[in-house]
Amino acid sequence: MAEFSLGLNEDQLQIQKWVHDFAGNVMRPAAHEWDEREETPWPIIEEAARIGLYSFDFVAQAFLDPTGLTMVLVNEEMSWGDAGIALAIFGSTLAVAGIFANGTPEQHAEWIPQCFGTPDEIKLAAFGVSEPDAGSDVSSLKTRAVYDQAKDEWVLNGTKTWITNGGIANTHVIVASVEPGLGSRGHASFVIPEGTPGISQGQKFKKMGIRASHTAEVVLDDCRVPGRCLLGGREKLDDRLARAREGKHTSTQAAMATFEASRPSVGAQAVGIARAAYEYALDYAKERTQFKRKIIENQAIAFKLADMKLRTDAARLLCWRAAWMAAHHEKFEAGEGSQSKLFAGETAVWVTEQAIQILGGYGYIREFPVERWHRDAKIYTIFEGTSEIQRLVIARAISGLHIN
Ligand SMILES: Cc1cc2nc3c(=O)[nH]c(=O)nc-3n(C[C@H](O)[C@H](O)[C@H](O)COP(=O)(O)OP(=O)(O)OC[C@H]3O[C@@H](n4cnc5c(N)ncnc54)[C@H](O)[C@@H]3O)c2cc1C
Repeated sequence: MAEFSLGLNEDQLQIQKWVHDFAGNVMRPAAHEWDEREETPWPIIEEAARIGLYSFDFVAQAFLDPTGLTMVLVNEEMSWGDAGIALAIFGSTLAVAGIFANGTPEQHAEWIPQCFGTPDEIKLAAFGVSEPDAGSDVSSLKTRAVYDQAKDEWVLNGTKTWITNGGIANTHVIVASVEPGLGSRGHASFVIPEGTPGISQGQKFKKMGIRASHTAEVVLDDCRVPGRCLLGGREKLDDRLARAREGKHTSTQAAMATFEASRPSVGAQAVGIARAAYEYALDYAKERTQFKRKIIENQAIAFKLADMKLRTDAARLLCWRAAWMAAHHEKFEAGEGSQSKLFAGETAVWVTEQAIQILGGYGYIREFPVERWHRDAKIYTIFEGTSEIQRLVIARAISGLHIN
C-alpha cells in the first residue's frame, strides 16, 4: 500500500498544471458562449482531443494512478474552467466507468477505446439508466432486454431520459432489465455499438445549468445487439440471476457499481465550481469599494469568504479520501463515496450563492460568471444520486438498517 500523503507527486502536479492551463486558456473564455448557445462545444472537444486530454490513453493513465488522486484533480480543474464544457468533454467517462465496472477484460479492451475515438475521428459515449418513471428508484426501470437464442442477440426496448450525450454518442451503455421480477438484481448492462439500428435520440432538454452538455432521451425500439455486448458475459449473468432467484446475496447491481466508482470524481467537479466562485468573489471583495472601504473589510463579507474557503477545502478532502480508498480497495464502510459527492455538491450550491451575494447586482447578471456557476452547481445535488439518496446510502451504511 502506498504511504499516505497529502502531498501531490511530480506527475500529479504536472497533470494538474496542464489541465489547469487548458481550463484557464481554452475553457473559461468559451464558457459564456456555449452556455448561451446550449450546444455541444465541438471545437473545444476537438482541441481537448488534439492535445491528448480527451483520449483513451490519458484517461487510462489518470485512472491507473495508484494513489487514486489524478482523476479527482483533473475533474476539479476542468470544472473550475467550466462545468458544462467539462461534462461535454468528459461525459463519455460515465459510460467508460459502466464498462469498467461490469465488463470482462476483453470487453474493456474492445469497447473503452471506442468511447473516445482519435483526434481525427472523435467519438462520444453515453451511459443510460434513468427513465421517466425510474430516477432514484432504479429498481423500477422498465427497459427490457430479451435474449434471442436462435440469433445469439439481445433485443432492447424502452426509453431512457436525461442521458448525457444521449443520442449523439457513438457508443451507448444501457442498463436494462433481463428479469423484471428480480428488481435491480435482474438488471444487466449492454453496450450498444455505433451504427446499431433501433437506437435514436428523443427530446433534447433545455436546462438550468451545465448547458454546454447535451442531455436527451434515448429511445430503444427493437434494438438488437450481439450476445457479446452483454457486459460481464452470459455465464456471470446466469449465475447472478440464479443466486438472486434463490434469495442469496448477489454482487453489486449494474447501475450502482457504476455510480459508486464515479462519485469522488463527480464530487471533485463540484469542488471545481465552488473554488472558481470563491476565488472570483475574493478578488472582487478586495476591489469593490462601498462606504469608502473595500467590502472585504466588513466582517460580514470576510467571514463569508472564510467559510467559502473552509467548506471548499473540506469538500476536496472528502473527495480525495474516497478516491484514495477506492484506489486502495478499501471498502466504503460509511458511504464515503456518497459523503464526498453529497458534501461537495451542497458546498458548490452554497458557495456559489454566497459569491452572488458578495457581487451584489453584478452577481445576478449574465456578464459576470457567478450566476452561471450557481446554475451549474445545482445539478450536483441531483444527478448521480440526489442529496437525499446519498444521505440514504450513508445512513444505511452507518446504521446497518434499511432506512427508508
Ligand atoms: C443534466 C442531467 C444529466 C443527467 N445525466 C444522466 C445520465 O447520463 N445517465 C443517467 O442514467 N441519468 C442521468 N440523469 C438522471 C439523474 O441521475 C436523475 O435525475 C436523478 O437520479 C434523480 O432522479 P429523478 O429526477 O427521477 O428524481 P426522483 O427520483 O423522482 O426524485 C424526486 C425527489 O424525491 C426525492 N426522493 C426520491 N426517493 C427518495 C427516498 N427514498 N428518500 C428520500 N427522498 C427521495 C429525491 O431526492 C428528489 O428530491 C441526468 C439528469 C440531469 C438533470
